[in-house]
Amino acid sequence: MEMHADVDGCSVPLAVLLKRELCNQKVERPDILFGEANKSKKGEDFTLLVPRCHRTPGGSGGGENAGDDDTISVFAIFDGHNGSAAAIYTRENLISSVLAAIPPNLTSEEWKAALPRALVAGFVKTDKDFQGKAARSGTTVTFVIIDGWVVTVASVGDSRCILESAEGSIYFLSADHRLDANEEEVERVTASGGEVGRINIAGGAGIGPLRCWPGGLCLSRSIGDIDVGEFIVPVPHVKQVKLSNAGGRLVIASDGVWDALHFQEALNYTRGLPAEAAANRIVKEAVTSKGLRDDTTCIVVDILPPEKLSPPLKRPGKGVIKALFRRRPSDEMSEDQMDRGCLETDVVEEIYEEGSAMLARRLNINYPEGNMFKLHDCAVCQLEMKPGEGTSVHGNMPKHSRVDPWGGPFLCSSCQLKKEAMEGKLHSRNSQSAVQPVPK
Ligand SMILES: [Zn+2]
Repeated sequence: MEMHADVDGCSVPLAVLLKRELCNQKVERPDILFGEANKSKKGEDFTLLVPRCHRTPGGSGGGENAGDDDTISVFAIFDGHNGSAAAIYTRENLISSVLAAIPPNLTSEEWKAALPRALVAGFVKTDKDFQGKAARSGTTVTFVIIDGWVVTVASVGDSRCILESAEGSIYFLSADHRLDANEEEVERVTASGGEVGRINIAGGAGIGPLRCWPGGLCLSRSIGDIDVGEFIVPVPHVKQVKLSNAGGRLVIASDGVWDALHFQEALNYTRGLPAEAAANRIVKEAVTSKGLRDDTTCIVVDILPPEKLSPPLKRPGKGVIKALFRRRPSDEMSEDQMDRGCLETDVVEEIYEEGSAMLARRLNINYPEGNMFKLHDCAVCQLEMKPGEGTSVHGNMPKHSRVDPWGGPFLCSSCQLKKEAMEGKLHSRNSQSAVQPVPK
């Protein structure tokens, strides 16, 4: 039987009124519990675990009330290859480059909106700075920032982050930049002057995974890899979602785990275990099933309603993969839809997703609304430039495309060179003297 209450003559179910009440309450920030586990084979996997740090270096950002609201959590895995220098350098420097790319004095909402663009700037700056050291090696990066109930994941390479909501739905929050698994990336690499193929053995048969040449890397994106072509770019896939206040569990792991375990298997092993034990179990099961063939690293992060100090996922999950999200905040919603949205507390809401490798698209001036970024700072390295000094990121776009009147954002000359190299433009400029690629 349904109970009803009368409001202004129209009948509203009591359940709806109660849900509205809950929606209007200020939802507290979640508790974050985490654990990590690692079995090392080559010693090239690194993790970063920062349960609390300030959004703005040195303390409370502007426009905020004092208190918890200024803190975020950061968790990351760096899976190095050809040595560990790139992984270590990125672990030490990436977070500060990302935070430095966000203008000061933003509100909490503005800060979250500015984060995806800042992640792109921070990844490219870190790659460029590391290449300046002329050290070999490269690294994957799966970089997770948790701000309240909003989770933002930036990724290059093939370490993965999955989310299981407290309601049992599963979401992939990272991209897979393995050439074998990503046709779009094969096209991009080829168009930028790289060659993609398998290793040829005698007789002409190709073996092993798809690799790109020069270099022979199986990944299409990474940080570092100066000895591989510039078409292996550091521009991350970025996905931002908002959890319901029932929370969820994140599993971040290197390919040592995902080559051995299906994501559903990994989640099933962790059912009912606290974060630390869950991470240990995943690594143990991965190594048991395939042997220790690669560095095998896992971080488990539980995002929990405050003071509910137990894992949120005691019952078996629905095993539902939510590739599509049901609604976007930008869609106009009627009051009726808002009510239903409020009732659908199990919906993980997609706020942002973009994976393009093109800086012109990723440093978009129309995003976020208004321009929060300084007009005359280099959009990648934040170098302050005089008006008229930088090159517009849209410099090479056709004239008919829609560009803001002031034409920015701008890049300093060094970041402009980096952009051209990533797009294969320096390659084609020099290709007259270079060896022509072997036709397939
Ligand atoms: Zn710059």
